[in-house]
Amino acid sequence: MKLPNFYASGPLDRAGHRRKSPDWLAERLRHPDTRIQLVWRSQHLVIDTAEGPRPIILTPALASDLIERAAEVVLLGLADDVAHFALDVSALETPLAALDLPEASFRDLRAVGPLIGRDEGAMLAYARGLMHWHARHRFCGVCGAPTESIDAGHVRRCTNPDCATSHFPRTDPAVIMLVEDGDKCLLGRQAVWTPGMYSTLAGFVEPGESLEDAVAREVFEETGIRVDSVCYHSSQPWPFPASIMLGFYAKALDRAIRVDETELEEAHWYSRAYLKDHPEMLPRRDSIARRLIEDWLTL
Ligand SMILES: [Zn+2]
Repeated sequence: MKLPNFYASGPLDRAGHRRKSPDWLAERLRHPDTRIQLVWRSQHLVIDTAEGPRPIILTPALASDLIERAAEVVLLGLADDVAHFALDVSALETPLAALDLPEASFRDLRAVGPLIGRDEGAMLAYARGLMHWHARHRFCGVCGAPTESIDAGHVRRCTNPDCATSHFPRTDPAVIMLVEDGDKCLLGRQAVWTPGMYSTLAGFVEPGESLEDAVAREVFEETGIRVDSVCYHSSQPWPFPASIMLGFYAKALDRAIRVDETELEEAHWYSRAYLKDHPEMLPRRDSIARRLIEDWLTL
């Protein structure tokens, strides 16, 4: 691995041992060194600069009113002993009204992710993923009673004392794979994608499957190609909304493509030379799909 994938390997020590310390959490939440990011309806507070969009991270003094009104307060972790928290302010219609930040706006990480720094991107992705989980697990999946956030926002516990089930943040495993046949690789496109963009195949892992099984099944379902030699490359948190992408290379056993048109619009074999001449057709630069393709081009 040369570099971590985008959104992975962020700068924070997650400090899991601090999550059960209410006094420490309360003190840090108001400490002047502490840094706080806002998540509003899966978007982040961003300001445009000459160097591109930059996230705005608040001090406790600036965020004081929002700390009181946030639906969730989550400890993200520590960086150089500075505590980083995230607030879910989605319930507020105008969370910026309390702040004197006329140039700032809430923007989707899908839009600004490729333009911001890796460390910043990893922190926003982490916060977005956790808040997405909180928003969709307000009720217990066992008994239906409301749940409450505990452990600094890393567990939700059922409030029914006869149940009291603990629910933990979910991340859904998905495989993404570059299928190769000699000097060519298999790329496809979905009809909803940006016109002209092609990418590696991908799909969710199903219960009872190994990752290798999922790679082989998805490739066969989408293109009719059978594969073997499934080989792990790297992984990437992908909080759009709640996936961990597990990247693989696989070798094709045949070349005739039969596209499943409910999944893909088209799929083709592309040579290294062709892809090097047409970088505009590759997926977004913050994606593991791009990484799989670019690393394959150098093999
Ligand atoms: Zn319950």
